[in-house]
Parts: sequence; structure tokens; C-alpha cells
Amino acid sequence: MRALEDLTGYLSRLPGIGKKSASRIAFYLVKTPSSYNEAFSDAILNIQKKIKICQICGSYSESDICDICSDANTDKESICVVEQPQDVITIKDSGVYKGLFHVLGGAINPLNNVLPENLRIKELMDRIKDNNFKEIILATNPNEEGDFTARYILRLLKDIDVKVTRLASGLPIGGDLEYADKSTLLRSFNSRVNFE
Ligand SMILES: [Zn+2]
Repeated sequence: MRALEDLTGYLSRLPGIGKKSASRIAFYLVKTPSSYNEAFSDAILNIQKKIKICQICGSYSESDICDICSDANTDKESICVVEQPQDVITIKDSGVYKGLFHVLGGAINPLNNVLPENLRIKELMDRIKDNNFKEIILATNPNEEGDFTARYILRLLKDIDVKVTRLASGLPIGGDLEYADKSTLLRSFNSRVNFE
């Protein structure tokens, strides 16, 4: 059945969805009320139209400036540098941190052609030069690329008088921030260490 195979094919390309799950979802969608399928496909169609990149921090936003950057309650003295927009959500939802963010858009990985100029590192440096941050928290993933990226940024900051920290160990080594459970994240955030 071509229609089912096509849908299964699309679904199995989604992160975390194997062939078996894709097939189960496809069969589920055959039986589900069509109003659900319509709303679901609308949500997929509109997601890229509705979600923009915040012009300041690079996170996802439905307006030009995201809620965190525009919120008067955000602590504007610290900036937390992460790889992906979903890391902002993970950290924000944990409640451990009330400051600003900066999304790099990935980590340096020359083997995959991700070079510093492909990331929002220049934008980060501009923000740091234009603001008087008290602390820069490097919260790139605790894996080889994330560590390398943190070191690279630390080198760029060597002539700037600002405290630089990195999340403490305890995060799953080699893993992604987004998979860290809340208590682990809280612990590593609260015991972040000077990075030098
Ligand atoms: Zn923002």
C-alpha cells in the first residue's frame, strides 16, 4: 500500500522514530478522526512560518525578539551559551537559571564542515563587547565538539575581563544537554566551575 509506505517513510525520518514506531503511527493515523489529521498537518505546515530566529540570541521565537530577551525580569548580567534552541528550553524549564542565552547553532566540527564562522560566535562576541556581562556560562554539550567549542570561545575571551564558567561534570559525558534529567542539570548548573 503505497500511501502507508510513503507516510511511514516520512515518519521514520523523524528523530527517535524507528521503522516500527513509524509504521504504528501511520496505522494509527488511518483510524484517527480526520479533524486530528487536519490539525496535525496544519501544525506541521505552519511551524516554519511561525517560528523565527530571535535577532538577539538566536533562539526560536514567534516574534523578532524572543520572550527571554524582551522580558524585564530576565537577569541581564549573565549569558548562557548553548548549542541549540532546545537547550534554551531545557535550561529555562529547569528553573535553575534566569539570565540571557546565546544560541550558537551547533558546535565546531571540522569533519562535518562546521567551522567557527558557520556558528553564531561573532554575534556572541559582539554581544559580549556591547554589554557588561558579569558571567558567561559555556553550556555547550559535554562531548568532544562541545568541549572544543567551549575552549575556542574561552580563547576569544582571554582579553576580556569577565568570569567564564562551564557546567560541572555530572552531565552524561558524550551526551546532549537536552537529554539530561532535571536533577542532573540543576546539580551541574549550580556547581558550575570557573573555566580557564
Ligand atoms: Zn532572544
